[in-house]
Amino acid sequence: MRRTDPLIVGGGPAGSAAAIALALGGASPLLIERHAEPRDTVCGGFLGWDALAALQRLGMDPWALGAQPIRSVRIIAGHRVIERPLPALAAGLSRHTLDRALLERTAALGVEIRRGVAVRRIEGDMLHLADSQTLIAEAIFLATGKHALRGSPREDVPRETRLGLRSTLPDCPDLAGWIELHLIDGGYVGLLRQEDGRINLSLSIAADRLSRAGGTPDALMTMLADEAPRLAERVGGAADWTAVAAVPYGWRARTTAPGLFRLGDQAAVIASVVGDGIAIALASGRAAAGAWLQGGAAAAPAFQRGFAARAHRPIAIAELARTAAERPRIAAAVLAILQIPGMVGAVARLTRIGP
Ligand SMILES: Cc1cc2nc3c(=O)[nH]c(=O)nc-3n(C[C@H](O)[C@H](O)[C@H](O)COP(=O)(O)OP(=O)(O)OC[C@H]3O[C@@H](n4cnc5c(N)ncnc54)[C@H](O)[C@@H]3O)c2cc1C
Repeated sequence: MRRTDPLIVGGGPAGSAAAIALALGGASPLLIERHAEPRDTVCGGFLGWDALAALQRLGMDPWALGAQPIRSVRIIAGHRVIERPLPALAAGLSRHTLDRALLERTAALGVEIRRGVAVRRIEGDMLHLADSQTLIAEAIFLATGKHALRGSPREDVPRETRLGLRSTLPDCPDLAGWIELHLIDGGYVGLLRQEDGRINLSLSIAADRLSRAGGTPDALMTMLADEAPRLAERVGGAADWTAVAAVPYGWRARTTAPGLFRLGDQAAVIASVVGDGIAIALASGRAAAGAWLQGGAAAAPAFQRGFAARAHRPIAIAELARTAAERPRIAAAVLAILQIPGMVGAVARLTRIGP
């Protein structure tokens, strides 16, 4: 049977936000998530003020989930350190907890969720599932994250991509209230305190640095400790790494077919060093739901163009910030510029998508 209400593929922040907004608007979407249980995806767990506002609009209270307040940023390049207040209150929360809570809210609104089954391929309005079922829908919301799904290739994906890694560390009390960014050759390491008191360590780096270090995250951390002494003091004991390859920073979906709404990292991939990917995922989910509620499946191309335009400024400025942060010689000069009062706040504000 052909579904008239949207079929959402992916139960991360983008898919859940769309499902919640659709349900609040009176629709009956079906959400398909390949994992049976929430897990910690590769993410820094930084929620900016726009993400916090977006969550509130969806009826979520991140503070009740144990989100840790973040008021200041510390940026470290070699022996240089700058410390600045953020322009508004932000938070640290693990993706495990956030994704679980979003899916619980989705289910509480009566949305049907099928977990533990992956979509293998899209063919027009048909979805082929790993359990051999086929579903047909007038509107498909593609919220599968960074990588293309068979049958829905993405155009103009940049050749130069990054590798993402994540782990946790025991608590460092002096990180309470801070997001700490260590700039390294080809990437950065982000540290913040999450709801269980542990430190979320996320890392984005050029893939060749991992292979040059010997191919394992532990070997990479040993190599980074040599070039970033302040980082070396922090990172002993990281284990249980999760990884994501080929992250296409700076990419946006400018077009789509009628009926196919691309959300989250399928719509726009912002450089993670500015910490706004979750906000983009939430904003795109809500915007796509609004577009479908008003214009049905035919609204997809206009939604996609509109969202690409909305994401242009934050993504362009984030690319400038990433390009500077990843090059040690430029990074030292950039840190000097960021010392100017108001500069850190300006960059932080200009890289937000808004709620
Ligand atoms: C190193 C790094 C650090 C980051 N740090 C931050 C940060 O601190 N703050 C921030 O805001 N952003 C950060 N980001 C970005 C952020 O993680 C993403 O932008 C965000 O997760 C995008 O959400 P999404 O819902 O689009 O995709 P995802 O979170 O990737 O969710 C996709 C969901 O779809 C499911 N799925 C995938 N394929 C299928 C399939 N075939 N069938 C069914 N289900 C499927 C997956 O299991 C998953 O649950 C970081 C990114 C990286 C790489």
